[in-house]
Amino acid sequence: MGGLKFRKVIQKAILSTVTVLCFAVLFVSSEAASSKDTLIVGVPTDRCPMFYIDNVSEETVGIGVDLIREVAKEAGYDIIIKNITEGNMKDALDSAEYDVIMPFGSAITSTSGMNAIVTENLMEIPFTLVTTKNSSLPTLNTVRVGMPASLKGVAETVHELYPGMKIVFYDDIRGGVKGLQKGEVDALLNNSYVWSYVLQKPSYVNLHVQPSAMFSMGFKAGTLDTPRGQEIIDRLNMGISRLEETKTEAIILDYTTRRLYHYDLWDYMYQYGAFIILGILLFAAVIGTMVFRQRSITLMQEERLRLLIDHDELTGAYSMNGFRKRVEEILRENPSVPYFISYNNIVDFKFINDSFGKETGDKLLKYWVKISKNILSEDEAIGRVTADQFVVLRRIEGNEKIYEDEQDVVEPVNNFLISQGKNFKVQLCSGIYVLTPDDLQNIDVDHMIDFARIAERKLRESGKTGFEFYNLNQWETKKRTVDIVGHLSSAIEAEEIQVWYQPQVNFESNTIIGAEALCRWAHGNLGWISPGEFIPALENSGKIYELDCYVWEKVCKDLHRWNNLGKRMTVSVNVSRSDISENPDIHLLFMDLIRKYELTPDQLHIEITESAYVKDSKLLILTTENLRSNGFLVEMDDFGSGYSSLNMLKELPVDRVKLDLRFLSSEGFEEKGQIILTYLIQMIQLLGMDLLAEGVETLDQAMFLKSKDCLEMQGYYFHKPMSVIDFEELI
Ligand code: C2E
Ligand code: MG
Ligand code: MG
Repeated sequence: MGGLKFRKVIQKAILSTVTVLCFAVLFVSSEAASSKDTLIVGVPTDRCPMFYIDNVSEETVGIGVDLIREVAKEAGYDIIIKNITEGNMKDALDSAEYDVIMPFGSAITSTSGMNAIVTENLMEIPFTLVTTKNSSLPTLNTVRVGMPASLKGVAETVHELYPGMKIVFYDDIRGGVKGLQKGEVDALLNNSYVWSYVLQKPSYVNLHVQPSAMFSMGFKAGTLDTPRGQEIIDRLNMGISRLEETKTEAIILDYTTRRLYHYDLWDYMYQYGAFIILGILLFAAVIGTMVFRQRSITLMQEERLRLLIDHDELTGAYSMNGFRKRVEEILRENPSVPYFISYNNIVDFKFINDSFGKETGDKLLKYWVKISKNILSEDEAIGRVTADQFVVLRRIEGNEKIYEDEQDVVEPVNNFLISQGKNFKVQLCSGIYVLTPDDLQNIDVDHMIDFARIAERKLRESGKTGFEFYNLNQWETKKRTVDIVGHLSSAIEAEEIQVWYQPQVNFESNTIIGAEALCRWAHGNLGWISPGEFIPALENSGKIYELDCYVWEKVCKDLHRWNNLGKRMTVSVNVSRSDISENPDIHLLFMDLIRKYELTPDQLHIEITESAYVKDSKLLILTTENLRSNGFLVEMDDFGSGYSSLNMLKELPVDRVKLDLRFLSSEGFEEKGQIILTYLIQMIQLLGMDLLAEGVETLDQAMFLKSKDCLEMQGYYFHKPMSVIDFEELI
């Protein structure tokens, strides 16, 4: 019994000891497991699918990462994957940040010159060449190959394999492709798995893998050759030997069958550029149409509002506001058109309203505006001031026009109520203000309306009807101007305009040396009018060129006739400043005339009046030079009168100066005048120009001029301007 007890105690003791031991072993082994070494592995991230950062998890993944994880597991390491920030593997080797780095093809030296040691192959990596076309390549020993700079380590291995291969490094694959396209290299070299990824980029469709030029390289991890390095490499090698081939294949298959390449904006542009641009254009067109529609709606609304503000609702005439604006516009656009403004009022309008009803009154007003609008042109306007008072801006077109208006507007208005079966004649009072040049300088429409209203009130208060002028004189002048300017063309046709000649003489030899052509107008309505009136009117309205062309041609015709009669003459013609601005190549016109009438240029003297200089001196100088270089003599007209400018004498290269004696006072030929004349003559002579005195009226003047050696003269003392017939008789 005691023996059995003892055995039981022993058994118990053994059991508990075994249990304790078992626990101890378990504890120790679990302790050992939790104290596994941690290995920091440095890897690149720009080599998809070998090493890259996953878009979703943002972790570094890839074939290389999965392989080293498996190997490390087999070797009993925990690993931390760290991205290599150094530019290449040689620099990364020297960094204390990583325990090992990868990938290596073979052992290389670090930047600091330390030797590296590498593991066995984790796998064999195929390397392929890529070219732009399917052409055959030079042999691998002579080919020029581009590689990313980050593969410098690989490049060393490649160099050992193919010493004749020329390697050019590019910052990245994109740079390499550019180099390849430019022909800097024959091919690009990279890991085949990387190519399978990169070549998914749409713009690389023309890159071709060269299957013939393929070789494989090791894929290893490495570190510096140190005792610790040695120990890590040994342990990793142990892991590599345990790594099953099927595992490796599964990892490669996993990554190479996924579609890892993600399109960036440029890829989409490359692939779908035409569609994208079309889409953008379509979108822009839709937006544009919408904006345009919105704008036109706004404009229409604005226009409607403007119409409301600027127009009188009842009659459709302008409101005062609208009239003011429109008149300003018209006057600014037509500065040379003569205008008047009339202020018109219906006599006893209140009586019409009271007796026939407001509706009839309104009808009358509407009728008045309607028939007025019928006769008004685009650049005229009618506005309603208040109730029965209207203002009209109208062009001045002579007396007839006023009578036409009388017929077309006033009479129908007078008879409006009668035509409606009411026995009442409507009477109008109108005041007229003729716009003056000052009104155009400083356009003040209210001011002009006030003047017209004063004339209207004066007429009404005197108990009369019809119309009355505020400024009758201006009306007469304007009307004459209109008569002159408006009739030029028909006057030329009807030969109302004639060219007269005033002989020019040499006082010493008493011979006629030439003549000046001056035009005369026997106007159909106005009788004889002087150049002093019609020349400025035509100049201001821009019509002088038409007249002068006619005069020049007429003079050339006369010269031609005299030439044929054996009487070669010289004639001076006047050229206005507006002629030059109208035709800056006026010398060509004169050349044509000379040719047409078989004249020589010296037969035409061109008189340019001094006032032309003020306008555009550059053009005037150029015109003068052109004329002279074509053989015409150019004369400065009217020197001494008007715009005397000594500067002009200096700058304008004329042949002859026409000194105008008319600036001297008419009472005698006094001392001061003689002094001025003496020095003017001397000055012109010293400047080397010819001289002709015009406006010579007395023998005294002629004698004085002769004493100063000025012999060429023109003036009433010798001859007045005369008709062609008289002139022909004289010569
Ligand atoms: P102008 O070119 O200086 O012509 C000379 C003017 O002086 C002429 O006036 C002539 O009749 C006048 N005259 C001539 N001798 C005397 C004199 O002894 N005493 C006075 N007091 N006057 C004299 P007209 O013909 O009335 O012409 C005036 C201006 O009109 C001309 O001055 C000229 O500038 C211009 N003109 C005349 N015909 C034409 C033409 O066909 N075309 C152009 N563009 N202008 C012309
Ligand atoms: Mg002249
Ligand atoms: Mg003159």
